[in-house]
Amino acid sequence: MAIFKDIAGLRQWRQSLHGTLALVPTMGNLHEGHLALVRLAANRAEHVLVSIYVNPLQFGPQEDFANYPRTLDQDLQRLHEAGCQTVFTPDNGLMYPRGRQDISIVMPPRSLSKVLCGASRPGHFAGVCTVLSKLLHMVAPEILVLGEKDYQQLRIVQQMVADLNLNVQVLPGPLQREADGLAYSSRNTFLNLAERQVAPLLAETLFDLARRSTSDAEVSDLAATGWERLERAGFLPEYLELRDAQTLQSLALPQPGARWFAAARLGQTRLIDNVIIS
Ligand code: AMP
Repeated sequence: MAIFKDIAGLRQWRQSLHGTLALVPTMGNLHEGHLALVRLAANRAEHVLVSIYVNPLQFGPQEDFANYPRTLDQDLQRLHEAGCQTVFTPDNGLMYPRGRQDISIVMPPRSLSKVLCGASRPGHFAGVCTVLSKLLHMVAPEILVLGEKDYQQLRIVQQMVADLNLNVQVLPGPLQREADGLAYSSRNTFLNLAERQVAPLLAETLFDLARRSTSDAEVSDLAATGWERLERAGFLPEYLELRDAQTLQSLALPQPGARWFAAARLGQTRLIDNVIIS
């Protein structure tokens, strides 16, 4: 397995490649959601590079950057088993050699980035866009694979790629769930046993809302019922909203292709999920 930690080695490898390269950027603590993206990438490109980097720029001061699960040895083992041979593991010195206070930042469009997670996480999506721009310049892949678990991130990055004329195709991968419906997430490891049992109710609520989102349904009533259900189960909901899948603007009327989005805290853990109306 080739593990690149610097840009020179990575670029040399990149230049020696024949055929297309897909980049799967991650923050590590790899689970089935990540591995499904790696498999999707391998189906679409001749070469796959997985990056593992916990990007400090996308965490707020009160967020879990310090505690974010870092499991590099286990991640490399999983990637090896999944047939992925090439990994990029930059450190903060490589990504932000001048620190993070006074650097060029990529700002995503307001309409996509100030809603949903952006409302409670100021600067988060600018951090995401900045690190992904850097990774795209370093790796120069033909394909960038992103999961629909972070649907707002996917839409923002698609828009960034279009706005900045980046020469890469964004390939979305479907959201992967545990058998009980809970969306795979590195943050699920923070859940204690009791919370883990309650956690699938977030997905259950969204699927229920999507099922009940018929053309004559009142969106505000649906949202209120879902909110109460989450609160009764012990969640602290942050948002529960129906939005257009392209513009991420609120919708007063349900329509096929729109998505229900939720973020909610369960104890110390913040979970997000989204479900499409079919
Ligand atoms: P992260 O390591 O959480 O930054 O995620 C890296 C990539 O994996 C992002 O594109 C995520 O959207 C994607 N991802 C994370 N969890 C899932 C999941 N349950 N299903 C599909 N993609 C996922």
